[in-house]
Amino acid sequence: MIFDILTIFPDFFRSPLEGGILRRGIEAGLISVNPVNLRDFTSDRHRTVDDRPFGGGEGMVMKPEPILKALDSLQISPLDAKVILMSPRGRVFNQSIAAELSVERRLVIICGRYEGVDQRISDHCVDMELSIGDYVLSGGEAAALVVMEAVGRLIPGVLGCEDSARNDSFSNGILEYPQYTRPRRFRGWEVPPVLLSGDHAAIARWRRREALKATLRRRPDLLGKAKLDPEDLRLLDGLKEERP
Ligand code: SAM
Repeated sequence: MIFDILTIFPDFFRSPLEGGILRRGIEAGLISVNPVNLRDFTSDRHRTVDDRPFGGGEGMVMKPEPILKALDSLQISPLDAKVILMSPRGRVFNQSIAAELSVERRLVIICGRYEGVDQRISDHCVDMELSIGDYVLSGGEAAALVVMEAVGRLIPGVLGCEDSARNDSFSNGILEYPQYTRPRRFRGWEVPPVLLSGDHAAIARWRRREALKATLRRRPDLLGKAKLDPEDLRLLDGLKEERP
């Protein structure tokens, strides 16, 4: 997967790419990240990427020309890549969008700044606008990093152990069960005994119940869309009767 990131702050991505999952994907040849400096596609001596909004008002707007020139320089065809604009007005990013994007060959991500990007870029050059949540950041770079990290870890081979992504929260519509590690007892706090029992069926049942319980208590909105079998529904009925 190639990520081309159109930004006025290409150095923003340096440190995050030096460690963790993205670096692992890059070293394995599964991911390649190409930060593109939009100022390299300006034609004035101040390398200007913004201008005042038509109609007046506060702030500046990102000009369309440097973005279009940067896109042209990538020589992508529509079948080859998806062009994404990071924007608080976009579709709210989630795990199923991450999974959808993880099968693409190339993602071009445009990072806005100032009051945002001239609407004509969105209208004529973008396949999808993505928001990472209902709040406003100063720029699209942190949002692009969120998308790269969530998509990158779903590319086969990047995580090493594919099961860990399969069981993650949201992957099967509900939250993940709680996790414990050594020591068995810490400051008098015990690990649930079933996890030490060696009984794999009992552990799987416990985990499913805890995953449903966490989802019911923390994110009941997810349960409406999750794929639940009759046993899950029975467990949920019991959980609803328990005091939280
Ligand atoms: N004036 C815009 C509005 O109210 O919708 C906000 C512009 S914001 C200050 C500058 C840039 O940050 C945006 O163009 C976008 O690229 C990025 N950005 C801000 N919040 C974001 C979010 N929640 N998700 C994705 N990108 C965001």
